Amino acid sequence: MALESVLIAGGGVAGFATARELRARGFGGRLSIIDPEGLPYDRPPLSKDYLLGTRSREQILLAGADWFLGQGIEVVSARAAALNPDEGLVLLEDGRELAADRIVLATGAAARKPDIPGGELETVLALRNRGDADALRKRLSPACGWPLWVRG
Ligand SMILES: Cc1cc2nc3c(=O)[nH]c(=O)nc-3n(C[C@H](O)[C@H](O)[C@H](O)COP(=O)(O)OP(=O)(O)OC[C@H]3O[C@@H](n4cnc5c(N)ncnc54)[C@H](O)[C@@H]3O)c2cc1C
Repeated sequence: MALESVLIAGGGVAGFATARELRARGFGGRLSIIDPEGLPYDRPPLSKDYLLGTRSREQILLAGADWFLGQGIEVVSARAAALNPDEGLVLLEDGRELAADRIVLATGAAARKPDIPGGELETVLALRNRGDADALRKRLSPACGWPLWVRG
């Protein structure tokens, strides 16, 4: 049976590269990426240019909305809550259910808070996603006298 649809849970660089390569290698079926953060973006700049405010949200995207449109790749802004691989179903947190012939799990990693005294303090921050970088920049800027601007 020909493969007609692929659903990728997680739109980090792994999920994005999977979608891009499927298209580059000739997969013409329905292709979707599910990620609560929407359009895939690159994470290394979160601790570098993005944190400094010298690269904007748009500038860290792995590809723009037009590229996804042109490639026929749907980006679903939602979180996968459960999988039913036997039936090829992904249940989203918002209650929707999506079906596909193949499901790719590319949900990456999460930051661990160290189990040490003080680890639970609100001044101990994680840096894993764009929201974390925004929060960290807000805290650091006044202390360091860094530029406070954020473009885009
Ligand atoms: C601040 C920072 C700086 C870094 N700097 C460097 C560097 O300089 N050089 C280097 O080589 N590497 C660096 N890395 C590591 C690199 O970014 C990772 O190796 C890479 O992001 C891993 O990609 P991934 O797609 O596997 O996972 P992730 O980037 O973690 O992407 C996973 C995606 O899955 C989504 N997701 C999670 N759960 C669900 C769910 N239930 N449903 C749907 N979507 C879900 C998340 O929102 C996320 O977008 C850095 C990482 C960070 C956080």
